[in-house]
Amino acid sequence: MKAEIVSVGTELLLGQIVDTNAATLGKALAELGITVHKRVTVGDNRERLLAALRESIEHADFVFTIGGLGPTQDDITRDVLAEAMDVPLQFDEGIAARLRSFFESRGLPVLESQMRQAFVPASGRALDNPNGTAPGLLFESRGKIAIALPGPPGEFVPILENEVVPYLRSRVGGTTIRSRVVRVCGMGEAMVEDRVKDLMTGDNPTVAPYAKTGEVHLRVTARAEGVAAAEALIEPVVQEIAARLGSHVYAYDDEPLEAAVVRMLHAAGMTLATAESCTGGLLAKRITDVPGSSSVFLGGVVAYSNDAKSQFLTIPARLIEMHGAVSREVAEAMAQQCRTRLRASIGVGITGIAGPTGGTAQKPVGLVWMAIASDGSVQSESNVYIGTRQDIRTKATQTVLTKLRDLIAEKA
Ligand code: AMP
Ligand code: MG
Repeated sequence: MKAEIVSVGTELLLGQIVDTNAATLGKALAELGITVHKRVTVGDNRERLLAALRESIEHADFVFTIGGLGPTQDDITRDVLAEAMDVPLQFDEGIAARLRSFFESRGLPVLESQMRQAFVPASGRALDNPNGTAPGLLFESRGKIAIALPGPPGEFVPILENEVVPYLRSRVGGTTIRSRVVRVCGMGEAMVEDRVKDLMTGDNPTVAPYAKTGEVHLRVTARAEGVAAAEALIEPVVQEIAARLGSHVYAYDDEPLEAAVVRMLHAAGMTLATAESCTGGLLAKRITDVPGSSSVFLGGVVAYSNDAKSQFLTIPARLIEMHGAVSREVAEAMAQQCRTRLRASIGVGITGIAGPTGGTAQKPVGLVWMAIASDGSVQSESNVYIGTRQDIRTKATQTVLTKLRDLIAEKA
């Protein structure tokens, strides 16, 4: 079964709103095993909408429209879809009565334009919208189905879940598409791909790599009759990937790297303290985003100026003068100081130049020194990251989290 999605609204073309509904719909259709072949966006324009709808109806079994069902002049989807499907609209007394009582109970006038929302396809039906005035509409003609849904997500999502998905499930049977994500850190995209490239040629399941900031995700997707059958296709491939990438696999599905680190700290009975300069607390933020981090994360300081490094962390001004604030020596002192002051198992120090200005020939923008202190030892490394200020900060925390995993695994 093939589907196409037509999003309707000039505001989408102008970039004023993002088409979150189409993304929600795409996921729901994938889970039902319905393949989306095309997604288009059209402004509130009769001719262009009619042309787009005719094309989609010709090519797909199911056509979905998003938006343009309301009462105003630019809400043209109902009429244009009726024309494209060649299905007349008819006035529905039940919906009209509901609309009248909706407005009257709020002391509002019942406008002629509002009553446009009481028109439904002669062949098809209305889809109940308990959160708004415009019902969804299902048109049926010549073996084709077109489903029109209202734009506000608070209306769109409930109609999708309560009306559309059950209807589609009854039409398509038990076919489903399932995915698992294998999350990999400490290895670049090209290297990951090289290790698993023979697994990427299959078509059920498929294996697709996604490069993220400082990590790579491998998505394994299978199509089958039922969830259990899909998972039986996915599992051996996931196991094979895990065997080949070893400890570089840090988690599956939705668990981010910081959550994996918190989980490992818990398991090892270790605690963490941080001292950050150029990342401005981003590492502490990522760690404390994880529920339950309070039992392993003791605290951190943002020591941004030289003075703050001296005052909060008793780093001698002379050390900073001699080596500069962005140096191995200062990063290591930051890591050791926060560790001993908070009596943590591990202390982290990060100092660097996030840019876009402030770089020199010896110390370019993107240079970050990172140190990790644990009992009696301190290890440090520097990297020159490329990208925006935000990229550089994110990459630095990503490196530190990756190193923390290695260290905790070694100590545990
Ligand atoms: P409409 O149904 O076209 O009158 O849209 C009403 C409102 O729904 C818009 O102003 C947006 O706030 C929202 N909306 C419309 N289309 C979408 C979409 N595709 N994704 C997310 N929100 C949307
Ligand atoms: Mg609109």
